[in-house]
Amino acid sequence: MTDTYQSIAQYCKDHDTRLIAVSKTKPISAISQVYDLGHRDFGENRVKELVEKQATLPSDIYWHMIGHLQTNKVKHIAPFVHMIHSGDRLSLLAEVNKQAQRADRQIDLLLQIKIAQEEEKYGWDYAALCSELDADLLHRYPYLRYRGVMGMATFTDEEDMVRTEFRRLREHFEELRSTYFSDQEHFDTISMGMSGDYKIAIEEGSTMIRVGSLIFGERG
Ligand SMILES: *Cc1c(COP(=O)(O)O)cnc(C)c1O
Repeated sequence: MTDTYQSIAQYCKDHDTRLIAVSKTKPISAISQVYDLGHRDFGENRVKELVEKQATLPSDIYWHMIGHLQTNKVKHIAPFVHMIHSGDRLSLLAEVNKQAQRADRQIDLLLQIKIAQEEEKYGWDYAALCSELDADLLHRYPYLRYRGVMGMATFTDEEDMVRTEFRRLREHFEELRSTYFSDQEHFDTISMGMSGDYKIAIEEGSTMIRVGSLIFGERG
């Protein structure tokens, strides 16, 4: 585990990309091992697990919520979550805003956009997102800080397809930044790339990759 982690971490460093170690389903001991190597960014996709791990592990960890998030669970992570990658619908943004206000902080959030060919369950349709931004989404929820976009490519061996999808997300990001977020300096993040496709994602402009099984081993 240590060797793989080190080599991916070095690769990210060389490419100016932030590595999120996706520790979902993995025990505290495994996270501690990576933490002891100096790593601080960890990603989880279930609220219950995230809350339990946050309470147990050191407080200087940056916790990333990367999975689909039910609105009624936002309150449990609002006090501490570092970034929500799965900002995929209006009702969720409204709830994160509300719970962020309650926790007296701003919460960093990524807009998850559908890019894959396969029928994706979650994520904004890009045109629908633009309609909301035309209707001043940017200023509607003052306790949110929009940091960029997140997307997942089709699960396939066809490298060209994956590359095309990542490229599309990058283009969406650029367009959003110039059209709606041009005065928001912190709108700077493209979260794309997982164990199977992170090198392609980085070639296509990813600034943040989310890698689980390659670091921690396959999930059971
Ligand atoms: C599980 C997960 C990952 C990491 O997947 P690996 O293939 O194990 O690297 C990345 N992003 C999201 C949203 C996930 O749910």
